[in-house]
Amino acid sequence: MKKTKDIFGEIVPELKKQKFNIDIDEFLDFIGHYDFTYLISPSEVQGKLKISIVDTYKLLEFLAQHKYLEPVIPVYCPYCNVYSGYYYDTIGEIPNKLTCLYCKQEISDPLQTAVIFYKIPLRKQDINY
Ligand SMILES: [Zn+2]
Repeated sequence: MKKTKDIFGEIVPELKKQKFNIDIDEFLDFIGHYDFTYLISPSEVQGKLKISIVDTYKLLEFLAQHKYLEPVIPVYCPYCNVYSGYYYDTIGEIPNKLTCLYCKQEISDPLQTAVIFYKIPLRKQDINY
């Protein structure tokens, strides 16, 4: 299986063209510590790369467009203070209300407590490496 650092190494020329205000080596070192199932939070990326939250989302969205990252959007339950058990791929998929899988309370505006994370997708070419 290919290492995440090597996978992201492939997109370095594109990242350089985009002129993101980041230290590419630092970024590779950081992303290389993540495995495929881990949920990466934008604030973690922002803190590590010391860039603005706007630049952070631009970078993460760029990587998502190129299939190097995949958004994962869990809805947090305001009643039991854990993730409600629902995960979405896009903001548009989140319904107007949800019933928490754990406490069974109705979450009336799930968009309010949805959080965007990103994960590294497992690509076929990386498994057969
Ligand atoms: Zn709950």
